[in-house]
Amino acid sequence: MYGTVQSTTWLSPAMVRIVLGGDGLAGFEPRVETDAYVNVAIPPEHADYTAPFDLDRIRNEQPAELQPHRRRYTVRRFDASAGELTLDVVVHERGPGGMWAAGAAPGDALVLTGPGGGYHPDPAADHHLLAGDESALPAIGASLEVLPTGARGTALIVVDGPDHELDLVHPPGVEVRWLHRTGEEPVDERLLLDAVSAPPSPASRLHAFVHGEAGEVRAVRRHLLTEWELSRASLSCSPYWRRHLADEAWRQAKPAWSAEVERDVA
Ligand SMILES: Cc1cc2nc3c(=O)[nH]c(=O)nc-3n(C[C@H](O)[C@H](O)[C@H](O)COP(=O)(O)OP(=O)(O)OC[C@H]3O[C@@H](n4cnc5c(N)ncnc54)[C@H](O)[C@@H]3O)c2cc1C
Repeated sequence: MYGTVQSTTWLSPAMVRIVLGGDGLAGFEPRVETDAYVNVAIPPEHADYTAPFDLDRIRNEQPAELQPHRRRYTVRRFDASAGELTLDVVVHERGPGGMWAAGAAPGDALVLTGPGGGYHPDPAADHHLLAGDESALPAIGASLEVLPTGARGTALIVVDGPDHELDLVHPPGVEVRWLHRTGEEPVDERLLLDAVSAPPSPASRLHAFVHGEAGEVRAVRRHLLTEWELSRASLSCSPYWRRHLADEAWRQAKPAWSAEVERDVA
């Protein structure tokens, strides 16, 4: 499956919106989860093939160093009537995913598989917590849009500064708080955790979504399970990326990391 770039729009200095469409998306089956994601395949710089390509054929024919980079991006929106899939991609000037998005132009093709997904806000929850950085912003934005008008909760989003904040549609009872990085890593790594603070009161049924940088997600998870006494079933955690590791290295490190995270809370 592949999408053809219809338009690109810079939403902030570090996030570009890519709208994909065309016949290559004909088989796309949207999911109800608001963190639904696709796996994209981006040819490395020296590859002699270009998108659209047959992923299985490339897997069999190309040597390891010419295999496409696999990256995951959230389905920010799927417009079934127009057959258009929207991805919001963080551009951080280092990785092939962000670089592809920064240079994308109408007519370019992007090979993808999926979607998968795992979270949808619990309609019966009386307080929602949505926490993450820019990489989780598409899922947080999609989640806020499906919350009922009377929903209550807090969204905490870490970004580089005020000009990285986006206008989000959300119920009036859900507070959206933007947390600005300082540029000092030890401080920035704690921003989400420090903002989570005390559990909301009174609230009997909480539902939390914590996705983004692995270390930040881990710290918030530990806090919610121990201090908020949240059950694992009420908590969706996903370490999307890891500081200082490209996605290939992160995917290798992830199983051991996840096992350690499981041991954080007995
Ligand atoms: C289920 C899922 C859904 C995701 N949805 C989105 C999405 O909608 N939008 C999105 O932008 N990302 C999303 N991500 C995260 C994205 O897949 C990773 O950030 C990926 O590493 C980006 O690839 P890259 O090629 O740009 O950088 P890589 O080559 O993987 O990394 C290069 C360097 O950049 C750093 N880096 C990676 N990501 C970031 C970042 N976000 N901010 C700062 N530095 C970074 C790495 O630590 C590394 O040092 C999602 C991840 C998952 C698992």
